[in-house]
Formats: sequence, structure tokens, C-alpha cells
Amino acid sequence: MLVLARIMKANDLIRHLTTNEKSVAEGYDYIITIDKVFWDNTKEVDRERVIRHELRHTFFDIDAEDNPYKLVDHDITDFYAEVEMNRDDPRWRGRCASLTADIYDQMKESGRKVQRSKKTPIEIAAEKGKV
Ligand SMILES: [Zn+2]
Repeated sequence: MLVLARIMKANDLIRHLTTNEKSVAEGYDYIITIDKVFWDNTKEVDRERVIRHELRHTFFDIDAEDNPYKLVDHDITDFYAEVEMNRDDPRWRGRCASLTADIYDQMKESGRKVQRSKKTPIEIAAEKGKV
């Protein structure tokens, strides 16, 4: 799929080259590149969406010992149809994953052997004829 925009952390060279004593004392923290054809042929609302999306990738880690300017990945990877069907509980995946991880932790703490299937869920579903 065509990439409309991309964000990256600034390296030392970019920081140096973007340093300006009047406005940007320490140089840029991030660089966003945007496809020019997209930018020149789209409405303001979609430009805002792209910039807002790219800025969501930024994270200032106040506890970081090195560079506190971090990048974070997307919250979700999903299908549009599934997003629509899960509108009543959009964070269901994180909730279920957290619950399951907690159960595994409790099982480990109680000394019970944690058995995980060696087959992947898709293989199990295929055997049952669900795929
Ligand atoms: Zn993104």
C-alpha cells in the first residue's frame, strides 16, 4: 500500500542542522515526511488526519536515560469490518490479552504447569473445519 506519510526520530545530524537559536534551540525531535501528490490533492480534513496520525507515534519518555523522544507503534491492527463490529468494545483485544496474561501469571505463581498448544490457533481451527 502507498505510504502517505512517515515519521522518524531526528538523529544527531538532523538535530544539528535544524538548530536555530531563535526558535528551535535544540533542533527537531522528529521529522515527518508526507507524500507531495497526496498533500497537493487532498482536503484539509485529510491532511489533519495524516498529521494527527503521525503525531500519535510520538512519545516523550520522562524516565528515559538516553533520548526521551520515542516512537510508538499502532494500538490496533485489524480489519475495518471488525472495527465496525466491535464498536461497543473497541479495546476488547487488549482486555482479553490482559486477562489471559493474568491467568497465565497466576498459574505460574501457583506452580501449575502451563500447557500451551503446540499447534497455532489457525491450525486448530483448520482441523475443526472452521477455516
Ligand atoms: Zn502509523
